Amino acid sequence: MDLIDPDLLRDRCLIDGIWTGEPKLAVTDPASGEIIAHVPQLGAAETREAIAAAERALPAWRARTAKERATALRRWFDAIVVATEDLAMIMTREQGKPLAEARGEVAYAAAYVEWFAEEAKRVYGEIIPSHRADSRLLVIRQPVGVCAAITPWNFPAAMITRKAAAALAAGCTMVVKPASQTPLTALALARLAERAGIPAGVINVVTGSAREIGGELTANPVVRKLSFTGSTEIGKLLMGQSAATLKKLSMELGGNAPFIVFDDADLDAAVEGAITSKYRNTGQTCVCVNRILVQDGVYDEFARRLAVAVARLQVGPGTEPGVTQGPLIDNAALAKVEEHIADAVQNGAEIVSGGQRHSLGGTFFEPTVLTGCTPEMALAREETFGPVAALFRFADEAEAIRLANDTEFGLAGYFYSRDIGRIWRVAEAMECGMIGINTGLISTEVAPFGGIKESGFGREGSRHGIEDYSEIKYLCMAGL
Ligand code: ADP
Repeated sequence: MDLIDPDLLRDRCLIDGIWTGEPKLAVTDPASGEIIAHVPQLGAAETREAIAAAERALPAWRARTAKERATALRRWFDAIVVATEDLAMIMTREQGKPLAEARGEVAYAAAYVEWFAEEAKRVYGEIIPSHRADSRLLVIRQPVGVCAAITPWNFPAAMITRKAAAALAAGCTMVVKPASQTPLTALALARLAERAGIPAGVINVVTGSAREIGGELTANPVVRKLSFTGSTEIGKLLMGQSAATLKKLSMELGGNAPFIVFDDADLDAAVEGAITSKYRNTGQTCVCVNRILVQDGVYDEFARRLAVAVARLQVGPGTEPGVTQGPLIDNAALAKVEEHIADAVQNGAEIVSGGQRHSLGGTFFEPTVLTGCTPEMALAREETFGPVAALFRFADEAEAIRLANDTEFGLAGYFYSRDIGRIWRVAEAMECGMIGINTGLISTEVAPFGGIKESGFGREGSRHGIEDYSEIKYLCMAGL
């Protein structure tokens, strides 16, 4: 891989400030199928070492002033920004997203580090008016301790920084296990953290067997908190595994985002929002629209305009200029997209555009629009995680809300309307952790990201993101 700074391409893991492990596990470019690197295949024993390193590093890191931790994080932020082109290239090669999107993710990932560098200084306590004349009641916030992060492949940089920067800012140390599809971005970020002067053991990255590493991270009593982003299925498994040691948990799991277009919507804006939210990262984000619910009066026109906009999307390898749709991550992802389309068509949906594997081969798929979708179809119940826009028809507001909430998930939701009364009613009625109103783009480091229902709990970003890494301690000072 051609990088400006080849030192960022790492083939070892970082444990206690030492780059370690034999590169064994192949990392593949999903656009070409080519093996681009190997990383270590670590297991429980090495994970135990990483946890022990994080435990040793904790007292000194926790004892630093918030400003000192903030300064170190700020240097990490600067290093990430300087390395933008290389990080974007590494990410595009291992993950597949277009370079422009990869650059955008690097900026987004860096923004979390900058944000939490700032928030480190604002972990305030409280003084509570006492229930007794001779006492004073205080609340202080302290770091949770050693934390673990298990992260997915769809945002190889941002899913790490939104956890690690919050943890480090709060005074915690961390062990990160990135997804096996995208370990190179994680290792490059660790290298930049090291260069920024973040001490040995404060951040450790282990790659390898998800089951073994995850098993140790959840069973080891030294780990006080686990933050996981991934599927609901694995989230439930990790929550069960964490029960024995009663760890604090943050779970950012699957979604099934509804996107409602009311009759009074600005249709061009709604089409633009649907394109951004549906096709970003080739439909592989947990806040991607999964069900587009369109009111009777604008249904046909919305479908027509969406198909026109979809025809402008350009499929190809993420490294090629102008490409907006990269490949899917792997064959399993491709198979799921095909199954969802076949099931929908069998149950009466109509393909308005796409619907097939792309002529480029591999895991490329045509951006697809389906009309006539119904709640019984698989794509209405499960996250498709691919470039398939599924249109459902509804008659009135009550039906839209009922359809939107007819899922066990509750991560993101979106709707388009210009009626202020309806905007409040629908926003309050939708069972989601995050709602985009007249926009398809909601993610920012300054706002709380997270879900309800089986999409999980905990919030990342905003001032709430650092709270998840601190414990409340109440001090009752009596005898005054
Ligand atoms: P996805 O379907 O998006 O790949 P997963 O939930 O399977 O999501 O994976 C998200 C992260 O969880 C990845 O880092 C993966 O390696 C990890 N993971 C998968 N299975 C386990 C497991 N049994 N224990 C711990 N981590 C796991």
